[in-house]
Amino acid sequence: MSVYLYNTKTRKKEEFKPLKDNEVSMYCCGPTVYSYAHIGNLRTYIFEDLIANTLRLHGYKVKHVMNVTDVGHLTSDGDEGEDKMLKAAEQEKKSVMDIARHYEETFFKHTEALKLKKPTVVCRATEHIVDMISFVKDLEDKGFAYFSNGNVYFDTAKFPKYGCLSGQNREDLKHGARTEQDTNKRNASDFVLWFTSSKFENQILQWESPWGKGYPGWHIECSAMSTKYLGERIDIHCGGIDHIPVHHENEIAQSEAKLGHEWVNYWVHTEFLNTKAGKMSKSTGGKTTIDTLKEMGYDPMVYKYFTLTSHYRSAAIFSEEAMDGAKKAYENLCDFVSEFKQKAHNQTLDENDSIALEKLKDEFNSYLFDDFKTPLAISHIWSVVKDNKKSDILKLNYVLHIDSVFNFGLKDVEAKTETSIEITPEIADLLEQRKTARAEKNWAKSDEIRDKLAELGIGVKDLPNKEIELIKL
Ligand code: AMP
Ligand code: ZN
Repeated sequence: MSVYLYNTKTRKKEEFKPLKDNEVSMYCCGPTVYSYAHIGNLRTYIFEDLIANTLRLHGYKVKHVMNVTDVGHLTSDGDEGEDKMLKAAEQEKKSVMDIARHYEETFFKHTEALKLKKPTVVCRATEHIVDMISFVKDLEDKGFAYFSNGNVYFDTAKFPKYGCLSGQNREDLKHGARTEQDTNKRNASDFVLWFTSSKFENQILQWESPWGKGYPGWHIECSAMSTKYLGERIDIHCGGIDHIPVHHENEIAQSEAKLGHEWVNYWVHTEFLNTKAGKMSKSTGGKTTIDTLKEMGYDPMVYKYFTLTSHYRSAAIFSEEAMDGAKKAYENLCDFVSEFKQKAHNQTLDENDSIALEKLKDEFNSYLFDDFKTPLAISHIWSVVKDNKKSDILKLNYVLHIDSVFNFGLKDVEAKTETSIEITPEIADLLEQRKTARAEKNWAKSDEIRDKLAELGIGVKDLPNKEIELIKL
């Protein structure tokens, strides 16, 4: 069974064929650490973790690289606005580095709460300035960059493919025209590779460079760090859909201009998480974080369950009603698992069960291998766990399998314990009286005794073989 995924570059679902036989290189644009990641950002990271886990499930070894943007990202994805890090430092009266480290640390606390695996490599922009300078120097030497009024720009006119990912013509890409136009640019779609003091004179983080003391533009870090850790060709590059028209176009332009060949084979983008009022965004005050969810009474696993009930290429709408539904479903699932653990502890998988289990795992995997169809995979889970004809040990093994990809924390759910009921002489007497009443078919008396037992906190369930089960009420 192959893995198929939708490639933004070709606008088609394609069979995944890695560059190396058994190894996958995957680069994901990471957080800009100027504030808390909101749950929309986290939808993208949950999905990226799922891609890596699905590929591992298939048997690939995955090298997953994620950057941390701690310098250079302006309030627009183009070159307009203020520096996000600087603005946050001023607002919170802290140093830029304190801001960066605090939000980075919280980001990883939140991803850990969601049981996302830490990427194989996490790399900070500020620790790769030398790599970025050398990348820009190369672009300049190759004639793709120009120096204008203190900044180094990428000349998009020299890269005819510019706009290939979003399917836009270079002339149509007027992101520079949305706000004030940077008059240093030759073309509206050109972008900054290196800033010097001509932009923000009060920039705190600055480094020496061949063009003067300054700091990198936002896009260059992803090209420089991905090349450093993954080499000159990458299998998969991920991000949210907002990155397609500017950031990823710019990454492609500068990487392919420097490398002289195609850079990424599969581009995979996650649709947005919205609220009923519209887009959820950090810069417009999207404040719903993992901590907010906890305050609202939702475990991070409930949010993960909620995100996986919609396909990554469809927008998802966040609401309390939807989260309440997810909470109920997730808790139900945990209850099932707890019961399987209790009942299956002394069962063994027989041959028929083993065959059935492999078939169920294959069915579940096939949904994920087909462009990560998580809603269908989740329906499959329910069809299995609710099936009374399947043994508990089979169902337990199946849920442990799904948990190796979804990481819902099911393997840590505890087995249900029998709640011991103390049979006092009074209860024993009532049970004996009820037995006699039933033998005499005196149903009124039997019901009367059942009520008396209920008052003592004991429920009685009659089983088919005249046995009874006592339940603690
Ligand atoms: P940022 O920290 O702003 O660079 O964003 C981190 C990641 O979250 C990027 O991959 C964005 O494309 C993605 N993203 C931003 N907003 C949303 C949203 N509302 N829903 C899903 N992903 C988002
Ligand atoms: Zn990036």
